Amino acid sequence: MLTAEIIAIGSELLTPDRTDTNSLWLTEKLNSIGIEVKLKTIVGDDDARLEEAIKDALGRSRVVITTGGLGPTEDDITRKIAARAMNRRLLLNEKVLDAIRTKFLKMGRAMPEINSRQAMVIEGAEVLDNPNGTAPGMYLEHDGRNVVLLPGPPREMRPMFENFVQPKLAAKAGDVRVVRRILRVAGMGESAVDERIAPIYTQYRNPQTTILFNNSEIEIHLTAQAKTEAEAELLLDGLAGQIEEKLDHAIFAFRGEKMEEVVGLRLAVGGFTLAVAESCTGGLISQRLTEVPGSSVYFMEGVITYSNDAKIRSLGVDSELILKHGAVSSEVAEAMAEGVRHRADTDFGLAVTGIAGPGGGTEEKPVGLVYIALSDDAHTEHRRLMIPGDRNLIRWRSSQAALDLLRRRLI
Ligand code: ATP
Ligand code: MG
Repeated sequence: MLTAEIIAIGSELLTPDRTDTNSLWLTEKLNSIGIEVKLKTIVGDDDARLEEAIKDALGRSRVVITTGGLGPTEDDITRKIAARAMNRRLLLNEKVLDAIRTKFLKMGRAMPEINSRQAMVIEGAEVLDNPNGTAPGMYLEHDGRNVVLLPGPPREMRPMFENFVQPKLAAKAGDVRVVRRILRVAGMGESAVDERIAPIYTQYRNPQTTILFNNSEIEIHLTAQAKTEAEAELLLDGLAGQIEEKLDHAIFAFRGEKMEEVVGLRLAVGGFTLAVAESCTGGLISQRLTEVPGSSVYFMEGVITYSNDAKIRSLGVDSELILKHGAVSSEVAEAMAEGVRHRADTDFGLAVTGIAGPGGGTEEKPVGLVYIALSDDAHTEHRRLMIPGDRNLIRWRSSQAALDLLRRRLI
């Protein structure tokens, strides 16, 4: 398998102000054509360090891709240093110079003299057109290495890679296709998931399986390699099917979908409507649901009832119930779910009440205690959760558990 490395160039990428997203995007693209990224480096705008980085890369990787530093200013050093690292000359390319001049004329301006730097091309390199900017990219083969210089701005870098570089590298990589699939799990811990499925996935080297803990979700990443995409998909189908047998309804997504998308789709397909009453999640559930385009078909109303008074006034929760059991209780959660369902006249009412902390916990009702409830016209049910983590995590996991309760009802 061809291996690649990426060098992201720019001092700003070393600071908290800018994140190097180019290499992440490129890695995914390269993986999809069967090229494995083994290393990435971030280098500031420093001649010596960049020269070292490029030389090191050429010494060990068949494909070396740089991004950034192709601009017209003094600190854009990639052209110059890459040429030096490969012991090649930089030559003025008249065609490129004309093209840059024309771009400026089209904007009604004369080309600033410094932009002529961008017409300097490494001897032997192919020029990659940049329709979204002035700096052209470069592609060359050097000592059996494939070297690619791309501009830094993602909107310039991405189309250049897709249009010119990807087809070339795909041809070099031969018939290898890599397809990834993300399965998402709710309501189970990481070790419980692993215990059940390790006996299966450890039997396969292809697809490769990794289990990731992400926010509060368990993700199972399957990566398959084959000669064609269809073959890779078949391999994935096989393993995903076996994993599903072990985890059953705990898997809510097979193609990386979000919980709110899955729930939304089921509501839409069933022709059901939903209203949500939230206390400790402060609207997060409604926010997540309404982020999905088309959610107005099933999502009717969301009410944030933070105070006791609001629960009584807006949802018709009995004040006696709150006095007797407290606002964080299964009884009040169920009354909220019923209340919001009646108020909005929907098929389902979903409710959350809990203690997100950091303050407000007691011995009897500690931080992380959350009740979720779901009501339809046949019955109302609740779950009691004890969620570890900080305020943000407790709120997020509460929203996830509530949506999952509804999802399971819709199966
Ligand atoms: P320009 O002609 O715009 O100067 P350039 O090729 O010189 O292009 P840089 O100056 O290195 O590119 O970067 C320009 C901008 O592109 C940066 O300010 C940043 O916003 C974005 N950028 C650069 N590198 C990356 C990267 N690795 N990931 C994400 N964004 C990047
Ligand atoms: Mg620049």
